[in-house]
Amino acid sequence: MRMGEDTYRHKGLRKQLVNLLKEKGITDQSVLDAIMEVPRHFFLDSAFDLIAYEDRAFPIGENQTISQPYTVAYQSQLLEITAGMSVLEIGTGSMYQASILAEMKARVFTIERQKKLFDATKLYLFKNKYPFLKFFYGDGFAGLPAYAPFDRVLITAAAPFIPPKLVEQLKVGGKMVIPVDEGETQRMKRLTKLADGQLQEEHFDSFSFVPMLSGKNQ
Ligand code: SAH
Repeated sequence: MRMGEDTYRHKGLRKQLVNLLKEKGITDQSVLDAIMEVPRHFFLDSAFDLIAYEDRAFPIGENQTISQPYTVAYQSQLLEITAGMSVLEIGTGSMYQASILAEMKARVFTIERQKKLFDATKLYLFKNKYPFLKFFYGDGFAGLPAYAPFDRVLITAAAPFIPPKLVEQLKVGGKMVIPVDEGETQRMKRLTKLADGQLQEEHFDSFSFVPMLSGKNQ
């Protein structure tokens, strides 16, 4: 991550990206506004400067990727964020998704299991814009019990199953957006926690994420 210039050219490319996301079916204006506001090229190596606003995933090191903008927008829209909600994100990666949620005025707690990616968050100057964006190094399967319960939980890696501890850390009435493995791809699911602790499931499109792995990695 670096913090270079945000030029009119970059803003123009972002506007085109926002239009593309609208065409692809993203309707939540707060999501579109956040995509317009957050300079995605800040989250990528300078080699990607001119292609940062293509609707593609890119490598960010450690065999990981920054999610495709459409995927970020899709998950953000399913979360139905309103200002002040607490959101637990599993898989900080490039910090782009976390910044989009912070831009939408959520209080964001994001966990990364790769030490090198987590360490990079310390050099991340853009975060100073968001007082309620907090980074943690740890195993997302365990969540963050000290900060629970959360209004929303977002998983940005391919989950082999629905992690029980993350369900525990969700408020009643809260929602989890999670891509669950279905062989080669993952089914995007939105789970709402009911008063009796049961989950109401909604199923959406299929996506392809990097795997959610257990344990921390040095
Ligand atoms: N949200 C990211 C996308 C990251 S890709 C972005 O906006 O760029 C998924 C990330 O999840 C990777 O960085 C990977 O290291 C991380 N990850 C995978 N399993 C995890 C786990 N159990 N706990 C925390 N992070 C995990």
